[in-house]
Amino acid sequence: MHVIAERPTRLLGRRALLSGFGACLLGGGTAEAVQVLRRHDHTDSENSRRRVDPTSISRVETAGDLMALTFDDGPDPDHTPTVLRVLSAAEVRATFFVIGRNALRHPQLVRDILADGHEVANHTQDHRWLDRLDLASVTDQIVGAERTLAGLGAGSGGMFRPPRGWISPNVVTATRAARLRTIFWTDCLEAHLSHGIDRAIAEVSHSARPGGILLCHDGGRLDGPNPQAIDRSATVAALPGLLRCLRARGLAADRLSSLLEASN
Ligand SMILES: [Zn+2]
Repeated sequence: MHVIAERPTRLLGRRALLSGFGACLLGGGTAEAVQVLRRHDHTDSENSRRRVDPTSISRVETAGDLMALTFDDGPDPDHTPTVLRVLSAAEVRATFFVIGRNALRHPQLVRDILADGHEVANHTQDHRWLDRLDLASVTDQIVGAERTLAGLGAGSGGMFRPPRGWISPNVVTATRAARLRTIFWTDCLEAHLSHGIDRAIAEVSHSARPGGILLCHDGGRLDGPNPQAIDRSATVAALPGLLRCLRARGLAADRLSSLLEASN
């Protein structure tokens, strides 16, 4: 979805896009225009994210064959155990950006993640859209998740990922104060799944490169102030084949910290 929103901006420039929408709206559709404008206010592209936070990481320069495998929005009893079994069978380690609220609800799953040699990182306490929050609220979300992970004996490893990749100057201020690195992604498995599982595997593995950061989701359910209920069964179904294809292409999927250590 962010691709659709961003591509016209890149080709035409923001002013051209907006004037184009004005022409399209002669027959009505103000609500749609407002929705489009709001969408463009989010940091939906790698360039816009770097403009707001030049120290953020979307990919890594490395001379090796490593890429990072990351899972967001868990832990989730519906999917996380299956993901762990698939990763164990493939002998692949990954980084789980967990939501603090979900970690508190399923602490044993956090322990299971760590026991298998994976690592956990900070994906906020409640998965709220941080770029719409004031500094105090952003800080609560980020520090709250740090405290949750510390309370579970986990720790974030100093790595933070904002929900949907949406950041603001307040997010930059809060992450710097908490000494966290903000991590985005190079590609997202779920962005390809509407084409079917086989095609998604082919597309993701074809475009994968050393130093890349692949985003997947092991969590779909969340309650609290920003609830969601998303079926992640297609992600889980795609994972074994995807890991085989990445390996066949000579890529070694691993934890994010391993990739960061291997950066040039
Ligand atoms: Zn998320």
